[in-house]
Amino acid sequence: MLAYTYIKEGTFALTEKPKPTLQDDRDAIVRVTLSSICTSDLHIKHSSVPRAVPGITVGHEMVGVVEEVGSAVTSVRPGDRVTVNVETFCGECFFCKNGWVNNCTDPNGGWALGCRIDGGQAEYVRVPYADQGLDKIPDGVTDRQALFVGDILATGYWAADIAQIGPEDTVLVIGAGPTGLCTLQCVLLKEPKQVIVCEKDPQRRTFVEEHYPQVLTVEPEQAADFVRAHSAHGGADRVLEVAGAPDTFALAWACARPNAIVTVVALYDAPQVLPLPDMYGKNLTFQTGGVDGCRCGEILSLIAQGKLDTTPLITHTYPLKDIAAAYDLFEHRQDKVIKVAIAP
Ligand SMILES: [Zn+2]
Ligand SMILES: [Zn+2]
Repeated sequence: MLAYTYIKEGTFALTEKPKPTLQDDRDAIVRVTLSSICTSDLHIKHSSVPRAVPGITVGHEMVGVVEEVGSAVTSVRPGDRVTVNVETFCGECFFCKNGWVNNCTDPNGGWALGCRIDGGQAEYVRVPYADQGLDKIPDGVTDRQALFVGDILATGYWAADIAQIGPEDTVLVIGAGPTGLCTLQCVLLKEPKQVIVCEKDPQRRTFVEEHYPQVLTVEPEQAADFVRAHSAHGGADRVLEVAGAPDTFALAWACARPNAIVTVVALYDAPQVLPLPDMYGKNLTFQTGGVDGCRCGEILSLIAQGKLDTTPLITHTYPLKDIAAAYDLFEHRQDKVIKVAIAP
């Protein structure tokens, strides 16, 4: 089968590999019907994910059809349409039992697919712990509607949840990239009083204005004053930092009101400074990222009810054989790309 493979720093290539087989009785083999490219894939390409293993098939956002299951798998059967979770988790350890599946203690726990074990930019993928890692797609929900459930939509859903958003809150979302837009949709589900999106790219601000007219947008330079002017208590009640740019962590806490919750979803390239003398007396609560992606069933049900729709994020679709061109487009942000779907 065709598989997009991490060869070495800076190089991915489409290679021919054998179709994966069951290695454990809790595994499933999924025929990939649609996958996508994530910014994390670019991080692997440029060697900023040290645990990524050269030779693996990349890709950790995908949906497909179950082809084969191990004898211990009970939740899915061959023929089921499924979303694949970016995280591998056993469901039994201390962290899994508390819902902190990102920290599952299994050797393959956390983000393994498309990083440490073969992922889904391929025709087939082996999914360990299939009872945990797969969720059935409801009838009436298309592959395109379900494509982001296991990764960026799970992240947005988790982030909006831990931010503890209330009806009187002004919520600031920093960053309107793909994960920021998923986070925004999940924040809107909580129906806070006001939502503001801070984004430096004018095209992305326009996308937000067109698709979510109830949301205010602002560029970073104006954000602090703008948020103060549009909130009741001198700053945002909740801030979700999804940008991960050099200055956005500082912007996040600067825009927060005293006693706010700042949820950091972003993945940074460099350490961030927490200047406690400057924020003394502001009494902020910080929450740090690493999605616990174990609520995909709930997300799929919200999609089925029409409450979440991430299909507008899919701006381009490429066949697997042309995936290199899709990466080029995505990496260089050409042609107003937000997300690319890859069809094997
Ligand atoms: Zn991802
Ligand atoms: Zn576990």
